[in-house]
Amino acid sequence: MDIHEYQAKEVLSNFGVTVPDGALAYSPEQAAYRAREMGGERWVVKAQVHAGGRGKAGGVKVCDSDAAIQEATEGMFGKKLVTHQTGPEGKGIYRVYVEAAVPIDREIYLGFVLDRTTQRVMIVASAEGGMEIEDISANRPDSIVRATVEPAVGLREFQCRQIAFKLGVEATLVQQMVRTLQGCYRAFTELDATMVEVNPLVITSDNRVIALDAKMTFDDNALFRHPQISELRDKSQEDPRESRAADRGLSYVGLEGNIGCIVNGAGLAMATMDTIKLAGGEPANFLDIGGGATPERVAKAFRLVLSDKNVQAILVNIFAGINRCDWVAEGVIQALKEVQVDVPVVVRLAGNNVEAGQKILAQSGLPIIRATTLQEAAERTVGAWQSDASQTTLKAVS
Ligand code: ADP
Ligand code: MG
Repeated sequence: MDIHEYQAKEVLSNFGVTVPDGALAYSPEQAAYRAREMGGERWVVKAQVHAGGRGKAGGVKVCDSDAAIQEATEGMFGKKLVTHQTGPEGKGIYRVYVEAAVPIDREIYLGFVLDRTTQRVMIVASAEGGMEIEDISANRPDSIVRATVEPAVGLREFQCRQIAFKLGVEATLVQQMVRTLQGCYRAFTELDATMVEVNPLVITSDNRVIALDAKMTFDDNALFRHPQISELRDKSQEDPRESRAADRGLSYVGLEGNIGCIVNGAGLAMATMDTIKLAGGEPANFLDIGGGATPERVAKAFRLVLSDKNVQAILVNIFAGINRCDWVAEGVIQALKEVQVDVPVVVRLAGNNVEAGQKILAQSGLPIIRATTLQEAAERTVGAWQSDASQTTLKAVS
């Protein structure tokens, strides 16, 4: 789960990281009022969306009067911000953060990620802050400083000092760097984050080390341990298909293609998507119904996939170990009877109670296409979708 910049800043400041003064606003008037309340002469208004690259896309504006704040935020509220991280559809702006403008002397990149190769939290830093990490690694790979943290002892001060020196931070500011690095690391581990990014971390002309931007991503599977974090969820920033699935306890990933996939287990889902591609199709989603799925759960999954307008064919691929093929078959039938389905549905069942499942499908009288192997299932789905699509085109032409 991602959170907004202002939320990440609040989280990090609770762990001792210094952030600028700022306040949240839900309207242009409120934004101007917030700035007056805060005082000062220059402010930065920042669109709160779950994506980076806002500065270049017009989502970060420096203002020096009430009127400028109103004007800048009027151009933001209710609009979609399209940055290189949002995809072409963009993300809606419903909140704006008004922040005191900080006199920047230097911008540093600072990121904490989970490195699966070393199985450690890895710190990635660069003296080339402000740029996105992808650009830094493409243009200035030599500027990147990396360090991994030994989990048994945590992030030690000497390591932080080493990083600070490698970044060329002045000796008088090293203690502030240590505090920032340790604060981010503690927030990362104690809150089960998978990513903390401060870009830029700035050194101001009056010698302060400040996190000017902050991004945090959390491990969804650990959110139950941190109710104060799960409360920060903002569904307006998520793919509506994915949040609807999460609310129903299903794991769903929306994709760009048009073949809906209902599968059990992430490994099988990956294999299914590969096979669909091999057969010439493009998956519209990745939906994992998990183990021990009841007919109701299967029906729920089915309705969810059907609600996606891009879906033009559905492939149900179940390898039942803990699951039962007969329950899956019942779920499919339940859903098909309730919802008007005008796309081809292919079902491939294997494993536990497969004969009973096949029988239920065969006796249902519903136009379900059955398949025995995964390859056959994928080919039939893509074939059925293609002939369906050509019929639609013919209808449109005639
Ligand atoms: P994004 O990464 O989404 O573009 P940032 O928060 O990093 O958004 O802002 C982009 C740039 O705007 C920063 O690199 C910094 O130069 C400037 N900026 C952001 N916040 C402030 C601030 N409070 N004071 C001064 N400059 C700022
Ligand atoms: Mg940034």
